Amino acid sequence: ASGIDETPDAVLKRVFGFDSFRGQQEDVISAVMAGEDVLVIMPTGGGKSLCYQVPALCRHGMGIVISPLIALMDDQVAALRQLGVNAAALHSELPPDRLDQTRADLREGRIDLLYISPERLVSPGTARWLARNPVSVLAIDEAHCVSAWGHEFRPEYRALADLPSVFPGVPRIALTATADSRTQDDILLALGMPEAKRLTSSFHRPNLFLAALPKGSETKQVQDALTPHREDAAIVYCGSRNRTERMAKSLRERGFNALPYHAGLSSQEKHATLMRFRSGEPMVIVATVAFGMGIDRPDVRCVVHLDMPASPEAYYQQIGRAGRDGEPADTLLLYGGEDMARARHWLEQSTAPDTEKRVTQARLESMIALTETVECRTQALLACFGEALSAPCGHCDNCRNPAQTFDGTEAAQKVLST
Ligand code: ADP
Ligand code: MG
Repeated sequence: ASGIDETPDAVLKRVFGFDSFRGQQEDVISAVMAGEDVLVIMPTGGGKSLCYQVPALCRHGMGIVISPLIALMDDQVAALRQLGVNAAALHSELPPDRLDQTRADLREGRIDLLYISPERLVSPGTARWLARNPVSVLAIDEAHCVSAWGHEFRPEYRALADLPSVFPGVPRIALTATADSRTQDDILLALGMPEAKRLTSSFHRPNLFLAALPKGSETKQVQDALTPHREDAAIVYCGSRNRTERMAKSLRERGFNALPYHAGLSSQEKHATLMRFRSGEPMVIVATVAFGMGIDRPDVRCVVHLDMPASPEAYYQQIGRAGRDGEPADTLLLYGGEDMARARHWLEQSTAPDTEKRVTQARLESMIALTETVECRTQALLACFGEALSAPCGHCDNCRNPAQTFDGTEAAQKVLST
């Protein structure tokens, strides 16, 4: 940033008002401060932004943040400006007067943190123009977008491998919540930073109790799962809009304060439901995946999946909306043959490129394996992200009710003793 010589701790307190770093933040920030390239893998909500915002404000020069989503960029810039940080965005949807202002600020070196879309940064001349002033750090947010393995591949991200030729010696920090190790390798390869330090935060959420059941009488199963949570907030995820409407109705008939939420509702309806959810009243939201982004009610005590999610990542993200306050929360995944049939149908109908279909297929297979496991479910979920939990969690369905396995020793002893 512009000349301040503060420590990361001081910036954390003065600018952001927080007392201490969380998880891997401190290690990441020290590495970036020392000029190293790093790959940060941290779950959503883990606090990735501070990992680049703090070094950008402590190091000399302007921090550049490459981000694929304009709405997210604008949100972050607005939040930073509220904190008194000179932040700005450069993307295709900027009003002309704003663009002129940002250009002028950049020319005068008045910006400390610049958010930019990848297509903008790689457009001819832009990077060189930005490189005329000192740059403190290059952050590549949502770095899985560079990987063809990822589900959100962005071809413009590929060009980011050339950044060191324009910004020599500037540390790069790539960040993502997508954790499988194949994607990680691919990200580093594609960004041309195979030697980067990898810093992975644990994905373990010890307060989430995982369970899965084959689908039976669904309404009864959902009702049983929700009954201990009548005074709480809960979310029931469904695979289709129709199912959200029907399940919400069934639950209302059974005395639950249940409302549907999906992309087909009017914006007034969605807004009204969100406001009630945020107000803290006990309620059940019966939703499609449209209910997600920006939902941060901390006291959700139960998440039920009426249909199997398409990948362990989607599953992790959705159950992760429970227990944000750190208190125990229950999750239940219902699964059945039609889930697999639906997925297979999608794969057959899809016009997606073969590589993408293979990835989708592989993710689905991992999800099925996770659903059907008889081992500790928490360990199995973390294993999907390359994380080893040293002992069974002790509180998932499989830990509480170990599968009855055929005891070969006893049978053999019987045979031998007769
Ligand atoms: P991510 O990008 O990993 O999903 P964010 O960077 O958006 O996560 O951070 C999630 C939330 O956590 C934000 O509200 C942020 O202010 C908060 N947060 C991050 N780091 C800390 C910290 N060290 N202390 C307190 N709150 C933090
Ligand atoms: Mg983020």
